[in-house]
Amino acid sequence: MYSKDLTKFFINGGWVDPVSPAFSDVINPANEEVSGRIALGGVADVDRAVSAARAAFATYSQTTREERLELLQSIQAEYARRTSDLADAVTEEMGAPAGLSGGVHVALGAWHLNTAIEILRDFAFEEQHGATLIRREPIGVCGLITPWNWPINQVAVKIFPVLATGCTAVLKPSQLSPYSAQILAEILDAAGTPAGVFNLVQGRGSVIGAALSRHDDVDMISFTGSEPVGAQIQKDAADTIKRVGLELGGKSPWIVLDDSALGANVAAATGAMMANSGQTCSAGSRLLVPESRLEDALAVAKATAEQTVVGNPTGNVAMGPVVSGDQFETIQGYIQIGLDEGAVLVAGGLGRPDGLDKGYYVKPTVFLANNTMRIAREEIFGPVLVVIPYTSTDHAVEIANDSSFGLAGYVNGENIAQANAVARRLRTGQIRINGAFDITAPFGGYKRSGNGREWGLHGFAEYLEIKAVIGGSVEYA
Ligand code: NAP
Ligand code: MG
Repeated sequence: MYSKDLTKFFINGGWVDPVSPAFSDVINPANEEVSGRIALGGVADVDRAVSAARAAFATYSQTTREERLELLQSIQAEYARRTSDLADAVTEEMGAPAGLSGGVHVALGAWHLNTAIEILRDFAFEEQHGATLIRREPIGVCGLITPWNWPINQVAVKIFPVLATGCTAVLKPSQLSPYSAQILAEILDAAGTPAGVFNLVQGRGSVIGAALSRHDDVDMISFTGSEPVGAQIQKDAADTIKRVGLELGGKSPWIVLDDSALGANVAAATGAMMANSGQTCSAGSRLLVPESRLEDALAVAKATAEQTVVGNPTGNVAMGPVVSGDQFETIQGYIQIGLDEGAVLVAGGLGRPDGLDKGYYVKPTVFLANNTMRIAREEIFGPVLVVIPYTSTDHAVEIANDSSFGLAGYVNGENIAQANAVARRLRTGQIRINGAFDITAPFGGYKRSGNGREWGLHGFAEYLEIKAVIGGSVEYA
C-alpha cells in the first residue's frame, strides 16, 4: 500500500509540513478522476531542503566507499520490498499498463541502483599521474528535476549516482508523477539514508525548479524534461555558474535496411513507438524505410498499429492513456497538423479509440510524411509514428541527421557490418542495432537533445569534480 495524500515533504530526515500549505489534485489519466493530492512547495521549502543538503554534505562527502556501498545495498533491500507499490503507483499516476509498470518501469530503477553499486565498488577516486594526484570528489548539493514519463527511471538514474559519489540532493519530481517519487523517498528513508542527504520537495516546476536552478547553494542541476524548460534552467543557473546536466527531447530516426527482415523490423519499430503511449524521449518516432519497399512497410506499420490493444492500464493492454488532458490535446493538435500539412494518414487519427469515452486515450497513429513537415521535426510525445521513405543508404543517413535533436537512433538489418557503418554516421548519443540494449551504456543527447550523459560510468562521473594535487606525493617531492 502507498499513500495518495501527499501533504508533507521529506527534509533533513523527516516528513515535514510545507511552510505555506497549498495543495493540488492528482488526476488518474485512465478515468480523469481525482486520485489524490500533493502539497505544493514554495521557495521557503526549497531553502530548508537546500540547507539540510548543505549541512549533510559536510559529513556525507567524507564517508568511505564501504559506507556508501552499505547504504546502497540497504536501499536495494527496501526497493525490493516496495516493487508492487512502485508498479501500482506508476500505473495510477501516468497510465502505463500494469505489465509495463511492474516490468520495465520498476526494473529500470533496480538496474540503475545495481549499476551505481557495481561502479562504486571499483571506481578509482584517486589516480597518480606523474607529480599530480588526480582526485575525483563529489560536486556537492545537487538539484534533481525530473519528468513523469519514466518516473522511476528518471529519479533513479540521478539519485543513485548522487548517493554513490557522496553528493547530497533535493529532488523535484513532476507534479504528474508524485506517488512513485514519494515511495522512492520512503525507500531511502527506511534504508537509513543519513538526514539531509536526500530531500524531496513536491510542487510546481516554475516555482521549485526555478528556485533550485537559481539557488546560490546548489552546485549542480540535473534536469530531464523538455527543451524549453531546459533552456530556462540554463538561464536561471547562469548567474551562479553551476553545472547543468540536461536530458531533453528527441525525434529519433529508426532506419530499417533493405533486406528480408524488413517486415519484422517495421513491426518491431511500430510496436516500440506505441509502448508507454509513445511517451519516451528516445522513441524512434521517424521510421525510415526504403522507398522501393514502401507499400510493404506501410502495410505492416498499419497492421501493427491497428492491432495494438488500447485500454484501461490496470488490465492486460499494450497501451494505456497518455498522461494528462494537456498532453492529449497537444497530441490531437499534432495529428491535425499532420493532416493539414498533407501527410498521409495510414492508421489511427483524431479522437479516442472506439469504446473509450473517458480517459486520455489516443489512437495508435501512423503517418506517411516527409522530413520537412512539423510532425517529422517536432517532438509529439505520443503514439504517433511518422514513416519517411529513403532512396539510398546515404539518403537515409542524411534524413536521419536532418533534425535539431540527436538523442537516439536505431538501425535494423541483417547485415551487421552495414548497420554498424550507418550507426557511425548518425549524430546521436546512443544507437541501438537490432534492438540491442545495455543499461550501462551512456545515455544523452547531441544537439538540442541536451548536455552531458546519464547511465553507467559516464552518468556517475557527472556528479564528480576533478581536483589536481601537484607535488604532494613523496616520490615526486
Ligand atoms: P517538462 O515540462 O520540461 O517538465 C520536466 C520537469 O521540469 C517537471 O518536474 C517540471 O515541473 C519541471 N519544470 C517546469 N518548469 C520549470 C522551470 N521553469 N524550472 C525548472 N523546472 C521546471 O517536461 P515533461 O512534460 O514533464 O516531460 C516530457 C519531456 O521530457 C519531453 O520533452 C521528453 O523528451 C523529455 N524527456 C527526456 C528524457 C531524456 O533522458 N533525454 C527522458 C524523459 C523525458 P512540473 O511538475 O511543474 O511540470
Ligand atoms: Mg510539462
